Amino acid sequence: MPTPFERACEVIPGGVNSPVRAFRGVGGTPIFFESGSGAEILDVEGGRYIDYVGSWGPLIVGHAHPRVVAAVQDQAAKGTSFGAPCELETALASRVCARVDGCERVRFVSSGTEATMSAIRLARGATGRDELVKIEGCYHGHVDSLLVQAGSGLLTLGIPGSPGVPEPLAKLTHVVPFNDVAAVEALFATRGDRIAGIIVEPIAGNMGVIPPQPGYLAALREITKRHSALLILDEVMTGFRVSPGGAQQLYDVKPDVSCFGKVIGGGLPAAAYAGSAELMEQMAPNGPIYQAGTLSGNPLAMRAGIETLDLLDDAAYATLERRAAQLEHGLAAAASAASIPLTINRVGSMLTAFFYDQPVRDFGGATAADSERYAKFFHGMLKRGIYLAPSAFEAAFVSTAHGEQQIERTIEAAAEVMATL
Ligand code: PMP
Repeated sequence: MPTPFERACEVIPGGVNSPVRAFRGVGGTPIFFESGSGAEILDVEGGRYIDYVGSWGPLIVGHAHPRVVAAVQDQAAKGTSFGAPCELETALASRVCARVDGCERVRFVSSGTEATMSAIRLARGATGRDELVKIEGCYHGHVDSLLVQAGSGLLTLGIPGSPGVPEPLAKLTHVVPFNDVAAVEALFATRGDRIAGIIVEPIAGNMGVIPPQPGYLAALREITKRHSALLILDEVMTGFRVSPGGAQQLYDVKPDVSCFGKVIGGGLPAAAYAGSAELMEQMAPNGPIYQAGTLSGNPLAMRAGIETLDLLDDAAYATLERRAAQLEHGLAAAASAASIPLTINRVGSMLTAFFYDQPVRDFGGATAADSERYAKFFHGMLKRGIYLAPSAFEAAFVSTAHGEQQIERTIEAAAEVMATL
């Protein structure tokens, strides 16, 4: 009998619909899941796990939250898509505007990739400039212009990060290190009048969690303003997760454009980009910059997003903070007892434990961590019923459904595994 993964490989490239699911970062083959409830997921063989992937961020209230399920079921019976406006879009957009200072208009799309792609089109269209600044190690989806790597040297023109990304396009993207204000200053000193904007994850989450250094985001805000370029904060991961108003509220920085995804769709495909009325009204149909989508503002996704945001009150954020702090302290104690160097970066309910004895502040630090040790840790935890991200360069996500005892079990498992590393 072929396994589910073997069967998938016969009809799906690599057996997965998003590469990181394939376990290449940790070895072995992916697990196929059948159901989830709260903080736990069940695989097709009946194995049960405490889940810290949370569908890579959306499931901040846990799997199959009864209120989200009821709303989606109710909506499915009424119709799954109209391709015409519905009031649910206004309802979710209003919630975004109420939570995120400076968001006056919200345009819904279906994925984070679409949100960042549209945001950079807006930046280019609004400024009449073509060049972009991207931060090394930040991921914004598989958009051509953002799927670029740094070449050698500190200030670099991008080189394609994948075959299929045209070199002339990649060259329009400059890549600078995270948390490095001087690199951005130097770049703008020579190219400032050609740069449409900077896109950045305000808290990096795609090279593991790396918070911004004090003053970093404020400096990006000041430099972009001085050069009449836009600041785009990609809050696809951080939005509605690290605080009611996202990282921009936490660090008191006001971007021109914000990108949202993950939590905003409550586990269904929804994402958005948002900003001031003046800027956003430059998008079609009121303005000339074009962007559209057949399933944009999809009613099922709107209902899931509305329920999820409504569940995220002050008490929910307090719970997230308490549970994630419990996890952080437990992991640190387990590592210390096993004499294993571990640097834990955490902001609210997103956390990465780097197997490394130095602070991790940028891509260089993240990649210096011991990813082979992480792979062993991952498999040890998996055997003990704890599902972590199958890559060292990811965040672990805590949800409001993670109970104190589940976190405690996770810490006990970690202590056992660390003793074997
Ligand atoms: N931006 C960030 C910060 C992300 O973490 C991701 C996805 N991990 C994306 C954009 C892309 O979102 P999607 O996978 O929904 O296209």
